[in-house]
This record gives sequence, C-alpha cells and structure tokens, in this order.
Amino acid sequence: MSDLTTLTTALKQAGLRVTPQRVAICELLATSLEHPTAAMIYDELKPRFTSLSLATVYNTLDTLVQLGVVNVLGHAGDDKVHYDADTEPHVNLACISCSRIIDIPSEHVTHLDTEITAASGYKLLGARVLYYGVCPDCQKKQAHAKRLS
Ligand SMILES: [Zn+2]
Repeated sequence: MSDLTTLTTALKQAGLRVTPQRVAICELLATSLEHPTAAMIYDELKPRFTSLSLATVYNTLDTLVQLGVVNVLGHAGDDKVHYDADTEPHVNLACISCSRIIDIPSEHVTHLDTEITAASGYKLLGARVLYYGVCPDCQKKQAHAKRLS
C-alpha cells in the first residue's frame, strides 16, 4: 500500500504543489479500501474543500499513476475508472452489478511477478489483475428478484 508520505513525496517529485486539497486526495487514496473513482473522491472532499475542482482531482491522480504509486484499475461495469493505491501484487475482484471492487491477496500473483521478472528482465512497476463477477450480495438480490417475478 502506498502510504500518505509516499504519495505526497511523489507529487513533490513531479513538481506539483502539495496543497491541502492534494494532501486530502492522497489521504483518501491511502486509506480507502473502496478503489474510488475520480468522481467519488471529488464528492467526498468537495464539502471540506469548496474550491476543489474535478480537474485538480484528475491531474493529481494522473501524476500519481505516472509515478507508479497508484494503479489504474479500469472500470467495474460502471464505465468509470477506479484507482488503487495498493501497488503490491494482489487480485482485484469487481462486481459488475454494484461496481464494488475488493482486494484478494494471492500468493500466486506474487509468484507470477517473480516469474515475469525472471522471464522478461523487466523492472515491474505494478500489475493489474482484475476479475469480474457478481458478488454474493448481488447474487442474493438477483435470486430474490427472480422469486418475486
Ligand atoms: Zn455486487
């Protein structure tokens, strides 16, 4: 997990001013388990920072992604890009019904990293392993809806 210091240091390195708004964005990324979208970050922080713009959220996220401290996960059935500050190898599991994304720690992914490094000579910066499915809650809801129809 990229912690707050890693994220704010990265912003400084990229030449961005570390404003209270950007610190709040980093803080949210470092602590959130929700794999937020830019819009989720904006909605969450807007009440605290009335001058916050969606452009600031996007350029902060873009910078963090370019520096490899935040991963882009792509969409989760909702056509919105989700972000993840956990750059350690793990599996992301997205529910295409409620668009929730959870983390699944997997030893296999760690092994896969080692294997890919050995086979390619690459210095790996991160990985994106995203599975799609329907979460247990949504399965229950769907079964319930079926019974009612
Ligand atoms: Zn779901």
